[in-house]
Amino acid sequence: MNLPTKGLWVSFLFVLLYQGTSVLADKQQPKQTPGLIGDEEAFSFAVDPALLWPRGIVYYEIDSKFSKEQKMAIGKSMNYIISNLHPGCIQFRPRKPSDMFYVYIQPHDSECKSTIGRKIQSRMSTLYLGDDCFESPGTVLHELIHTLGAAHEHIRPDRNLFVEVDCDGIENRFKNAFTRKINRYDKTSSTPYDLRSVMHYRKKEIEFASKDNNNTVLKVREAYAHLSDLSEDPPLELTATDIIEISRNYDCGLKPGIKEKYVKYVNEITIALLNHLKTNCLEPKKDDDHACYGGYDVASKYVDEWKKYDDKSNDYQTAKKMLAEIFNDVDQIQSNIMFTEEIDFNDCP
Ligand SMILES: [Zn+2]
Repeated sequence: MNLPTKGLWVSFLFVLLYQGTSVLADKQQPKQTPGLIGDEEAFSFAVDPALLWPRGIVYYEIDSKFSKEQKMAIGKSMNYIISNLHPGCIQFRPRKPSDMFYVYIQPHDSECKSTIGRKIQSRMSTLYLGDDCFESPGTVLHELIHTLGAAHEHIRPDRNLFVEVDCDGIENRFKNAFTRKINRYDKTSSTPYDLRSVMHYRKKEIEFASKDNNNTVLKVREAYAHLSDLSEDPPLELTATDIIEISRNYDCGLKPGIKEKYVKYVNEITIALLNHLKTNCLEPKKDDDHACYGGYDVASKYVDEWKKYDDKSNDYQTAKKMLAEIFNDVDQIQSNIMFTEEIDFNDCP
């Protein structure tokens, strides 16, 4: 496998976050979180509707310097998105001069990066694709999903329940890319943490962010190892959860089969989460207090429920209800932490 230059993957770690939505964000957020300038509107998808493309129509311009093959790869990713969503949910249309808001897709020496959603102030969103960005089929897809409004999965507020981050092993300049979005407005939105999301860092990005090319600085916790080990390059694939988040934000229906896939994943991740809580969180462990959010009361509560749930492992409504309750409790704990502790937002706790 050809590894891209470090420059590429360095850049892949970042997406351009910007101040374009500050008008609405200011109204919604009387208290800004220090250190999260520009990030506050998104956790797994843009919370600020102004970031979304009206009627799901994304106007784009592709720089002529791309090769024919590269242009085809971009088109293939766009078609993949369109074909996996309900008809008409998202459309990509070449920009005419009268189209004010658009994304300019352009080459770059080494970087793969995109603004999150629509850029309000300058009106031109940017998506940069260096030559190496075409090596893994999922990379172009990943950047296009940023353009639709999605942020990285592994910076969700609840990520520590699912993955373990070794902040000390990450180069200082990359720590920000591993910092959870801890904010009173960042909620879990009742979609489960998605270890297979196209928006989750994988082995290459993790290795390149580490101090010594070590892919364990972000690793899946043991209880979820059967769901993903993050070792694959991003495939040209949206998970059911990715599709549901896009569809929910753009107010679309779902194609047949997506709900069933989602139900299956909700069940899998819920059982794994309850196993994780049961194994690790019945009493505080000093060496890894992130594993349970410090939420030992939550863990005890849900471990009590665990056997009841285990008998009904195909019961989607039960799984969904439990997940919602867990997320609600975690959000509450999150808020308490936020208002009672000093957090270094330039670190990655
Ligand atoms: Zn990204």
